[in-house]
Amino acid sequence: MPKKTLPETPVRGARKPVSPTLRRSRPAALPARPVAYRGDNLYLDGVSLASLARQHGTPLYVYSAQQIKDRLQLFQQAFRGRAHTVCYAVKANSSLALLRMLGEMGAGFDIVSGGELERVRKACRPALARVVFSGVGKQEWEIDAALKAGILLFNVESEAELAVLARRAKALKRRARFALRVNPDVFAETHPYISTGLREHKFGIDITLARAIYRKAARSPWLEPAGVSVHIGSQIRKVEPFAAALDRVVQLVHELRADGLDIRYIDAGGGLGIEYTGEAFDARRQVEQYAAALGRALDGVAAGSPVAAGLPEQTHLLLEPGRFIVAQAGVLLTRVLFVKQNGAKTFVVTDAAMNDLIRPALYQAHHEILPVRKRPGSKGLVADVVGPVCESGDFFARDRDLASVKAGDLLVLLDAGAYGMTQSSNYNTRVRPAEVLVQGREAQVIRRRETLRDLFGPELLA
Ligand SMILES: *Cc1c(COP(=O)(O)O)cnc(C)c1O
Repeated sequence: MPKKTLPETPVRGARKPVSPTLRRSRPAALPARPVAYRGDNLYLDGVSLASLARQHGTPLYVYSAQQIKDRLQLFQQAFRGRAHTVCYAVKANSSLALLRMLGEMGAGFDIVSGGELERVRKACRPALARVVFSGVGKQEWEIDAALKAGILLFNVESEAELAVLARRAKALKRRARFALRVNPDVFAETHPYISTGLREHKFGIDITLARAIYRKAARSPWLEPAGVSVHIGSQIRKVEPFAAALDRVVQLVHELRADGLDIRYIDAGGGLGIEYTGEAFDARRQVEQYAAALGRALDGVAAGSPVAAGLPEQTHLLLEPGRFIVAQAGVLLTRVLFVKQNGAKTFVVTDAAMNDLIRPALYQAHHEILPVRKRPGSKGLVADVVGPVCESGDFFARDRDLASVKAGDLLVLLDAGAYGMTQSSNYNTRVRPAEVLVQGREAQVIRRRETLRDLFGPELLA
Protein backbone atom coordinates (compact mmCIF):
# COMPACT_ATOMS: atom_id res chain seq x y z
CA MET A 1 0.00 0.00 0.00
CA PRO A 2 1.38 3.45 -0.83
CA LYS A 3 2.59 5.25 2.27
CA LYS A 4 1.28 8.78 2.52
CA THR A 5 3.59 11.54 3.63
CA LEU A 6 2.47 14.80 5.11
CA PRO A 7 0.95 17.17 2.57
CA GLU A 8 3.42 19.88 1.65
CA THR A 9 3.80 22.52 -0.99
CA PRO A 10 5.39 21.29 -4.23
CA VAL A 11 9.18 21.14 -4.11
CA ARG A 12 9.94 22.61 -7.50
CA GLY A 13 8.38 25.88 -6.43
CA ALA A 14 6.69 28.46 -8.60
CA ARG A 15 7.76 28.56 -12.25
CA LYS A 16 9.28 31.78 -13.48
CA PRO A 17 7.01 33.46 -16.02
CA VAL A 18 8.04 32.56 -19.57
CA SER A 19 6.95 34.48 -22.65
CA PRO A 20 4.68 32.41 -24.93
CA THR A 21 7.09 32.60 -27.89
CA LEU A 22 10.01 31.50 -25.77
CA ARG A 23 7.98 28.61 -24.44
CA ARG A 24 7.13 27.44 -27.94
CA SER A 25 10.70 27.48 -29.18
CA ARG A 26 12.23 25.71 -26.21
CA PRO A 27 10.37 23.45 -23.78
CA ALA A 28 11.00 24.15 -20.08
CA ALA A 29 14.35 22.69 -18.99
CA LEU A 30 14.06 19.57 -16.89
CA PRO A 31 15.87 19.64 -13.58
CA ALA A 32 18.96 17.42 -13.74
CA ARG A 33 18.03 15.90 -10.38
CA PRO A 34 14.77 15.41 -8.49
CA VAL A 35 16.15 16.67 -5.16
CA ALA A 36 15.87 20.21 -3.76
CA TYR A 37 15.94 21.94 -0.38
CA ARG A 38 12.75 23.27 1.06
CA GLY A 39 14.03 25.53 3.79
CA ASP A 40 16.81 23.49 5.37
CA ASN A 41 15.32 20.09 4.53
CA LEU A 42 16.06 18.03 1.45
CA TYR A 43 13.13 16.66 -0.56
CA LEU A 44 12.93 14.23 -3.43
CA ASP A 45 10.01 15.53 -5.50
CA GLY A 46 7.22 15.99 -2.94
CA VAL A 47 8.64 13.81 -0.17
CA SER A 48 10.95 14.73 2.69
CA LEU A 49 13.97 12.43 2.77
CA ALA A 50 14.17 12.69 6.57
CA SER A 51 10.62 11.33 6.82
CA LEU A 52 11.54 8.41 4.53
CA ALA A 53 14.54 7.58 6.72
CA ARG A 54 12.30 7.61 9.81
CA GLN A 55 9.70 5.35 8.22
CA HIS A 56 11.90 2.90 6.33
CA GLY A 57 15.35 3.09 7.92
CA THR A 58 18.71 3.48 6.19
CA PRO A 59 20.51 2.76 3.94
CA LEU A 60 17.62 3.33 1.55
CA TYR A 61 17.40 3.75 -2.22
CA VAL A 62 14.85 6.37 -3.25
CA TYR A 63 13.76 6.93 -6.87
CA SER A 64 11.68 9.59 -8.60
CA ALA A 65 9.04 8.06 -10.87
CA GLN A 66 8.58 11.40 -12.61
CA GLN A 67 12.19 11.75 -13.62
CA ILE A 68 12.37 8.22 -15.00
CA LYS A 69 9.28 8.87 -17.11
CA ASP A 70 10.66 12.23 -18.26
CA ARG A 71 13.93 10.66 -19.35
CA LEU A 72 12.25 7.88 -21.34
CA GLN A 73 10.05 10.49 -23.00
CA LEU A 74 13.10 12.56 -23.94
CA PHE A 75 14.32 9.60 -25.99
CA GLN A 76 10.92 8.83 -27.44
CA GLN A 77 10.49 12.48 -28.48
CA ALA A 78 14.01 12.95 -29.85
CA PHE A 79 13.59 9.96 -32.17
CA ARG A 80 9.92 10.49 -33.03
CA GLY A 81 10.83 11.25 -36.67
CA ARG A 82 11.84 7.65 -37.35
CA ALA A 83 10.60 4.15 -36.55
CA HIS A 84 12.30 3.23 -33.28
CA THR A 85 11.97 1.36 -29.99
CA VAL A 86 13.74 2.39 -26.80
CA CYS A 87 14.87 -0.89 -25.23
CA TYR A 88 15.78 0.15 -21.69
CA ALA A 89 18.88 -1.74 -20.46
CA VAL A 90 17.54 -3.75 -17.53
CA LYS A 91 20.91 -4.21 -15.83
CA ALA A 92 21.09 -0.50 -14.92
CA ASN A 93 18.18 -0.90 -12.50
CA SER A 94 16.08 -4.04 -12.72
CA SER A 95 13.42 -3.27 -10.10
CA LEU A 96 10.12 -4.84 -11.19
CA ALA A 97 8.19 -1.67 -10.35
CA LEU A 98 10.43 0.43 -12.61
CA LEU A 99 10.28 -2.13 -15.42
CA ARG A 100 6.48 -2.15 -15.25
CA MET A 101 6.37 1.65 -15.39
CA LEU A 102 8.69 1.78 -18.42
CA GLY A 103 7.00 -1.15 -20.17
CA GLU A 104 3.60 0.50 -19.83
CA MET A 105 5.04 3.59 -21.53
CA GLY A 106 5.94 1.46 -24.54
CA ALA A 107 9.58 0.74 -23.77
CA GLY A 108 11.22 -2.46 -24.88
CA PHE A 109 14.04 -4.02 -22.89
CA ASP A 110 17.68 -4.93 -23.43
CA ILE A 111 18.44 -8.00 -21.32
CA VAL A 112 21.69 -9.83 -20.61
CA SER A 113 20.45 -12.97 -18.83
CA GLY A 114 17.60 -15.43 -18.45
CA GLY A 115 16.95 -13.86 -15.06
CA GLU A 116 16.36 -10.47 -16.64
CA LEU A 117 14.02 -12.12 -19.15
CA GLU A 118 11.92 -13.39 -16.24
CA ARG A 119 11.90 -9.90 -14.76
CA VAL A 120 10.40 -8.54 -17.98
CA ARG A 121 7.83 -11.35 -18.03
CA LYS A 122 6.82 -10.60 -14.44
CA ALA A 123 6.76 -6.84 -14.82
CA CYS A 124 5.17 -6.43 -18.25
CA ARG A 125 4.40 -9.56 -20.26
CA PRO A 126 3.46 -7.79 -23.52
CA ALA A 127 6.94 -6.21 -23.56
CA LEU A 128 8.53 -9.65 -24.17
CA ALA A 129 7.95 -8.99 -27.88
CA ARG A 130 10.14 -5.88 -27.52
CA VAL A 131 13.12 -7.61 -25.88
CA VAL A 132 16.63 -7.71 -27.32
CA PHE A 133 19.00 -10.22 -25.74
CA SER A 134 22.65 -9.12 -25.47
CA GLY A 135 25.67 -10.69 -23.77
CA VAL A 136 28.81 -12.67 -24.65
CA GLY A 137 27.94 -15.81 -22.69
CA LYS A 138 24.34 -16.90 -23.25
CA GLN A 139 23.55 -20.38 -21.93
CA GLU A 140 21.27 -22.89 -23.63
CA TRP A 141 18.49 -22.57 -21.07
CA GLU A 142 18.55 -18.80 -21.51
CA ILE A 143 18.42 -19.07 -25.30
CA ASP A 144 15.55 -21.59 -25.03
CA ALA A 145 13.56 -19.35 -22.70
CA ALA A 146 14.02 -16.35 -24.99
CA LEU A 147 13.04 -18.36 -28.11
CA LYS A 148 9.88 -19.59 -26.38
CA ALA A 149 9.07 -16.07 -25.18
CA GLY A 150 9.23 -14.82 -28.78
CA ILE A 151 11.65 -11.97 -28.17
CA LEU A 152 12.38 -9.43 -30.87
CA LEU A 153 16.09 -10.03 -31.46
CA PHE A 154 19.14 -11.95 -30.29
CA ASN A 155 22.27 -9.83 -30.31
CA VAL A 156 24.81 -12.53 -31.09
CA GLU A 157 28.41 -11.94 -30.03
CA SER A 158 30.34 -14.88 -31.57
CA GLU A 159 30.17 -17.55 -34.29
CA ALA A 160 30.09 -20.21 -31.59
CA GLU A 161 26.99 -18.59 -30.07
CA LEU A 162 25.37 -18.43 -33.50
CA ALA A 163 25.85 -22.19 -33.86
CA VAL A 164 24.19 -22.83 -30.50
CA LEU A 165 21.33 -20.48 -31.40
CA ALA A 166 20.74 -22.38 -34.67
CA ARG A 167 20.78 -25.73 -32.86
CA ARG A 168 18.32 -24.61 -30.17
CA ALA A 169 16.04 -22.90 -32.72
CA LYS A 170 15.91 -26.16 -34.70
CA ALA A 171 15.20 -28.22 -31.56
CA LEU A 172 12.34 -25.89 -30.56
CA LYS A 173 11.17 -25.38 -34.16
CA ARG A 174 11.26 -21.61 -33.78
CA ARG A 175 13.18 -19.42 -36.19
CA ALA A 176 15.61 -17.11 -34.39
CA ARG A 177 15.79 -13.47 -35.47
CA PHE A 178 19.28 -12.21 -34.84
CA ALA A 179 21.68 -9.33 -35.21
CA LEU A 180 25.42 -9.67 -34.93
CA ARG A 181 26.83 -7.35 -32.33
CA VAL A 182 29.74 -5.95 -34.27
CA ASN A 183 32.83 -4.45 -32.77
CA PRO A 184 33.44 -1.25 -34.75
CA ASP A 185 36.94 -0.61 -33.33
CA VAL A 186 35.92 2.86 -32.15
CA PHE A 187 37.50 4.42 -29.09
CA ALA A 188 35.11 6.04 -26.65
CA GLU A 189 36.56 8.02 -23.79
CA THR A 190 35.24 6.54 -20.56
CA HIS A 191 36.47 4.39 -17.70
CA PRO A 192 38.35 1.34 -19.12
CA TYR A 193 36.01 -1.07 -17.28
CA ILE A 194 32.99 0.26 -19.19
CA SER A 195 34.58 0.77 -22.61
CA THR A 196 33.64 -2.04 -25.00
CA GLY A 197 34.06 -0.95 -28.63
CA LEU A 198 37.72 -1.76 -29.30
CA ARG A 199 39.03 -4.92 -30.91
CA GLU A 200 40.90 -5.75 -27.69
CA HIS A 201 37.62 -6.00 -25.75
CA LYS A 202 35.72 -9.26 -25.29
CA PHE A 203 32.54 -7.84 -26.83
CA GLY A 204 31.10 -8.32 -30.30
CA ILE A 205 32.42 -9.65 -33.60
CA ASP A 206 35.12 -7.85 -35.60
CA ILE A 207 33.12 -5.78 -38.08
CA THR A 208 35.42 -6.75 -40.94
CA LEU A 209 34.46 -10.43 -40.49
CA ALA A 210 30.73 -9.87 -40.04
CA ARG A 211 29.64 -10.00 -43.69
CA ALA A 212 30.97 -13.52 -44.20
CA ILE A 213 29.33 -14.74 -40.99
CA TYR A 214 25.95 -13.29 -42.02
CA ARG A 215 26.25 -15.01 -45.41
CA LYS A 216 26.93 -18.33 -43.80
CA ALA A 217 24.15 -17.91 -41.23
CA ALA A 218 21.64 -17.02 -43.94
CA ARG A 219 21.93 -20.58 -45.24
CA SER A 220 20.43 -21.98 -42.03
CA PRO A 221 16.62 -22.32 -42.19
CA TRP A 222 16.52 -21.65 -38.44
CA LEU A 223 18.36 -18.35 -38.42
CA GLU A 224 16.90 -15.09 -39.68
CA PRO A 225 19.48 -12.32 -40.14
CA ALA A 226 17.36 -9.29 -39.25
CA GLY A 227 19.64 -6.61 -37.84
CA VAL A 228 23.06 -5.26 -36.97
CA SER A 229 23.88 -4.18 -33.46
CA VAL A 230 26.60 -2.17 -31.77
CA HIS A 231 27.36 -0.96 -28.22
CA ILE A 232 30.62 0.87 -27.61
CA GLY A 233 30.54 1.37 -23.85
CA SER A 234 28.95 3.27 -21.01
CA GLN A 235 29.05 6.79 -19.51
CA ILE A 236 30.14 8.28 -22.85
CA ARG A 237 29.68 12.05 -22.79
CA LYS A 238 30.56 12.97 -26.39
CA VAL A 239 28.21 12.00 -29.21
CA GLU A 240 30.87 11.67 -31.94
CA PRO A 241 31.97 8.11 -31.03
CA PHE A 242 28.33 6.93 -31.28
CA ALA A 243 28.06 8.47 -34.76
CA ALA A 244 31.40 6.98 -35.85
CA ALA A 245 30.31 3.50 -34.73
CA LEU A 246 26.92 3.83 -36.41
CA ASP A 247 28.55 5.03 -39.60
CA ARG A 248 30.41 1.73 -39.83
CA VAL A 249 27.25 -0.19 -39.01
CA VAL A 250 25.32 1.60 -41.75
CA GLN A 251 28.01 0.72 -44.26
CA LEU A 252 27.74 -2.94 -43.26
CA VAL A 253 23.94 -2.85 -43.55
CA HIS A 254 24.27 -1.62 -47.14
CA GLU A 255 26.60 -4.51 -47.93
CA LEU A 256 24.29 -7.04 -46.30
CA ARG A 257 21.30 -5.74 -48.21
CA ALA A 258 23.32 -5.97 -51.40
CA ASP A 259 23.82 -9.61 -50.47
CA GLY A 260 20.04 -10.00 -50.42
CA LEU A 261 19.53 -10.05 -46.65
CA ASP A 262 16.47 -8.39 -45.15
CA ILE A 263 18.24 -6.30 -42.48
CA ARG A 264 15.52 -4.20 -40.83
CA TYR A 265 16.86 -3.46 -37.38
CA ILE A 266 19.77 -1.23 -36.50
CA ASP A 267 20.55 -1.43 -32.80
CA ALA A 268 22.66 1.55 -31.73
CA GLY A 269 23.19 0.24 -28.18
CA GLY A 270 23.25 2.36 -25.04
CA GLY A 271 25.99 4.24 -23.26
CA LEU A 272 24.94 7.89 -23.26
CA GLY A 273 26.50 9.45 -20.16
CA ILE A 274 25.23 11.81 -17.47
CA GLU A 275 26.92 14.48 -15.34
CA TYR A 276 27.87 13.11 -11.93
CA THR A 277 29.47 16.32 -10.62
CA GLY A 278 27.78 19.57 -9.68
CA GLU A 279 28.19 20.98 -13.23
CA ALA A 280 25.03 22.10 -15.03
CA PHE A 281 23.44 19.36 -17.13
CA ASP A 282 20.70 19.70 -19.73
CA ALA A 283 19.38 16.19 -20.34
CA ARG A 284 17.05 17.27 -23.14
CA ARG A 285 19.88 18.93 -25.07
CA GLN A 286 22.09 15.90 -24.57
CA VAL A 287 19.50 13.50 -26.00
CA GLU A 288 18.73 15.85 -28.90
CA GLN A 289 22.42 16.07 -29.82
CA TYR A 290 22.70 12.29 -29.56
CA ALA A 291 19.63 11.81 -31.79
CA ALA A 292 20.98 14.30 -34.32
CA ALA A 293 24.37 12.54 -34.46
CA LEU A 294 22.78 9.12 -34.91
CA GLY A 295 20.39 10.59 -37.49
CA ARG A 296 23.29 11.96 -39.56
CA ALA A 297 24.94 8.55 -39.59
CA LEU A 298 21.67 6.81 -40.50
CA ASP A 299 21.00 9.26 -43.28
CA GLY A 300 24.50 8.73 -44.61
CA VAL A 301 25.44 12.39 -44.53
CA ALA A 302 27.92 12.43 -41.66
CA ALA A 303 31.16 14.18 -42.49
CA GLY A 304 33.48 11.80 -44.31
CA SER A 305 30.84 9.09 -44.45
CA PRO A 306 31.60 6.42 -47.04
CA VAL A 307 27.87 5.87 -47.49
CA ALA A 308 26.45 7.82 -50.38
CA ALA A 309 22.75 7.35 -49.82
CA GLY A 310 20.74 6.98 -46.65
CA LEU A 311 18.94 3.83 -45.63
CA PRO A 312 15.44 3.01 -46.79
CA GLU A 313 12.55 3.93 -44.58
CA GLN A 314 11.77 0.43 -43.38
CA THR A 315 14.81 0.55 -41.10
CA HIS A 316 13.76 0.30 -37.45
CA LEU A 317 16.15 1.86 -34.97
CA LEU A 318 16.68 0.22 -31.58
CA LEU A 319 18.22 2.13 -28.67
CA GLU A 320 19.43 0.63 -25.40
CA PRO A 321 19.87 3.44 -22.85
CA GLY A 322 20.18 2.36 -19.22
CA ARG A 323 22.08 4.84 -17.09
CA PHE A 324 20.63 7.91 -18.79
CA ILE A 325 17.07 6.87 -17.91
CA VAL A 326 17.50 5.99 -14.24
CA ALA A 327 20.80 7.25 -12.79
CA GLN A 328 19.80 10.75 -11.79
CA ALA A 329 16.34 9.70 -10.60
CA GLY A 330 17.84 7.82 -7.65
CA VAL A 331 19.61 8.65 -4.40
CA LEU A 332 21.11 6.50 -1.68
CA LEU A 333 20.04 7.75 1.72
CA THR A 334 22.40 6.92 4.57
CA ARG A 335 22.95 7.80 8.22
CA VAL A 336 26.26 8.87 9.73
CA LEU A 337 27.35 6.40 12.42
CA PHE A 338 30.54 8.09 13.59
CA VAL A 339 32.88 10.92 12.75
CA LYS A 340 36.41 9.83 13.58
CA GLN A 341 39.84 11.37 13.39
CA ASN A 342 42.94 9.37 12.37
CA GLY A 343 45.93 11.67 12.56
CA ALA A 344 45.30 14.54 10.15
CA LYS A 345 42.39 12.82 8.41
CA THR A 346 38.72 12.92 9.25
CA PHE A 347 36.47 9.98 8.40
CA VAL A 348 32.70 10.13 8.19
CA VAL A 349 31.50 6.53 8.69
CA THR A 350 28.07 5.86 7.19
CA ASP A 351 25.69 2.92 7.53
CA ALA A 352 25.82 2.46 3.73
CA ALA A 353 28.86 0.71 2.30
CA MET A 354 30.45 -0.57 -0.90
CA ASN A 355 28.13 -3.57 -0.83
CA ASP A 356 25.20 -1.15 -1.28
CA LEU A 357 26.88 1.08 -3.92
CA ILE A 358 30.12 -0.20 -5.41
CA ARG A 359 30.65 2.42 -8.12
CA PRO A 360 33.24 4.52 -6.25
CA ALA A 361 35.28 1.41 -5.39
CA LEU A 362 34.92 -0.21 -8.83
CA TYR A 363 35.19 2.74 -11.23
CA GLN A 364 36.58 5.54 -9.01
CA ALA A 365 33.16 7.05 -9.66
CA HIS A 366 32.20 10.42 -8.21
CA HIS A 367 28.88 10.88 -6.42
CA GLU A 368 27.82 14.24 -5.03
CA ILE A 369 26.92 14.07 -1.33
CA LEU A 370 24.41 16.36 0.35
CA PRO A 371 23.21 16.69 3.93
CA VAL A 372 19.50 15.96 4.35
CA ARG A 373 19.29 18.79 6.85
CA LYS A 374 21.38 21.90 6.27
CA ARG A 375 22.98 23.48 9.29
CA PRO A 376 23.03 27.15 8.40
CA GLY A 377 26.18 28.99 9.32
CA SER A 378 28.12 25.91 10.41
CA LYS A 379 31.70 25.58 9.25
CA GLY A 380 32.81 23.13 6.56
CA LEU A 381 34.62 19.87 7.00
CA VAL A 382 36.97 18.02 4.64
CA ALA A 383 36.61 14.29 5.14
CA ASP A 384 36.60 10.82 3.60
CA VAL A 385 33.12 9.33 3.55
CA VAL A 386 33.47 5.60 4.18
CA GLY A 387 31.34 2.56 4.94
CA PRO A 388 31.75 -0.12 7.61
CA VAL A 389 33.01 -2.88 5.28
CA CYS A 390 36.47 -4.31 5.97
CA GLU A 391 38.16 -3.05 2.80
CA SER A 392 40.16 0.11 2.25
CA GLY A 393 38.29 0.38 -1.06
CA ASP A 394 35.07 0.90 0.89
CA PHE A 395 34.72 4.64 0.38
CA PHE A 396 32.17 6.94 -1.20
CA ALA A 397 34.35 10.06 -1.33
CA ARG A 398 37.89 11.13 -0.53
CA ASP A 399 38.86 14.53 0.89
CA ARG A 400 35.37 15.80 0.18
CA ASP A 401 34.33 19.26 1.25
CA LEU A 402 31.22 18.66 3.35
CA ALA A 403 29.15 20.89 5.53
CA SER A 404 29.79 20.06 9.19
CA VAL A 405 28.58 16.53 9.83
CA LYS A 406 27.76 14.88 13.15
CA ALA A 407 26.93 11.34 14.17
CA GLY A 408 23.24 10.67 13.54
CA ASP A 409 23.00 13.04 10.55
CA LEU A 410 21.49 11.86 7.28
CA LEU A 411 23.37 12.19 3.98
CA VAL A 412 22.37 11.39 0.40
CA LEU A 413 24.56 10.17 -2.42
CA LEU A 414 23.17 11.57 -5.64
CA ASP A 415 22.81 9.90 -9.06
CA ALA A 416 22.65 6.43 -7.53
CA GLY A 417 19.70 5.15 -9.59
CA ALA A 418 21.82 3.23 -12.13
CA TYR A 419 24.25 0.41 -11.30
CA GLY A 420 23.55 0.97 -7.60
CA MET A 421 21.09 -1.60 -6.31
CA THR A 422 21.76 -3.94 -9.25
CA GLN A 423 25.44 -4.20 -8.31
CA SER A 424 24.79 -4.52 -4.58
CA SER A 425 25.83 -7.63 -2.68
CA ASN A 426 25.68 -9.25 0.73
CA TYR A 427 29.42 -8.86 1.34
CA ASN A 428 30.21 -8.81 5.07
CA THR A 429 26.80 -10.50 5.59
CA ARG A 430 25.05 -7.18 5.21
CA VAL A 431 21.43 -7.15 4.13
CA ARG A 432 20.71 -5.13 1.02
CA PRO A 433 18.78 -1.86 1.35
CA ALA A 434 15.07 -1.32 0.78
CA GLU A 435 13.92 0.66 -2.28
CA VAL A 436 11.24 3.32 -2.35
CA LEU A 437 9.55 4.85 -5.41
CA VAL A 438 8.29 8.42 -5.04
CA GLN A 439 5.35 9.54 -7.16
CA GLY A 440 4.65 13.19 -6.43
CA ARG A 441 3.95 13.33 -2.69
CA GLU A 442 3.54 9.60 -2.24
CA ALA A 443 6.23 7.08 -1.48
CA GLN A 444 5.84 3.37 -2.05
CA VAL A 445 8.15 0.58 -0.94
CA ILE A 446 9.04 -1.37 -4.09
CA ARG A 447 11.48 -3.70 -2.38
CA ARG A 448 11.59 -4.38 1.35
CA ARG A 449 14.84 -4.44 3.23
CA GLU A 450 16.38 -7.91 3.28
CA THR A 451 16.49 -9.78 6.56
CA LEU A 452 19.20 -12.05 7.90
CA ARG A 453 16.71 -14.90 7.45
CA ASP A 454 16.65 -14.10 3.71
CA LEU A 455 20.44 -14.37 3.66
CA PHE A 456 20.66 -17.67 5.49
CA GLY A 457 17.80 -19.23 3.49
CA PRO A 458 19.84 -21.08 0.84
CA GLU A 459 22.57 -22.28 3.22
CA LEU A 460 22.86 -25.84 4.50
CA LEU A 461 24.59 -27.15 7.63
CA ALA A 462 25.95 -30.68 7.39
C1 LIG B 1 25.10 -2.10 -20.31
C2 LIG B 1 24.58 -2.11 -21.68
C3 LIG B 1 23.70 -1.10 -22.11
C4 LIG B 1 23.33 0.09 -21.25
O1 LIG B 1 24.42 0.94 -21.07
P1 LIG B 1 24.18 2.37 -20.35
O2 LIG B 1 25.53 2.94 -20.29
O3 LIG B 1 23.61 2.10 -19.02
O4 LIG B 1 23.26 3.14 -21.22
C5 LIG B 1 23.16 -1.20 -23.37
N1 LIG B 1 23.47 -2.25 -24.19
C6 LIG B 1 24.33 -3.23 -23.83
C7 LIG B 1 24.62 -4.32 -24.77
C8 LIG B 1 24.90 -3.18 -22.56
O5 LIG B 1 25.76 -4.14 -22.20
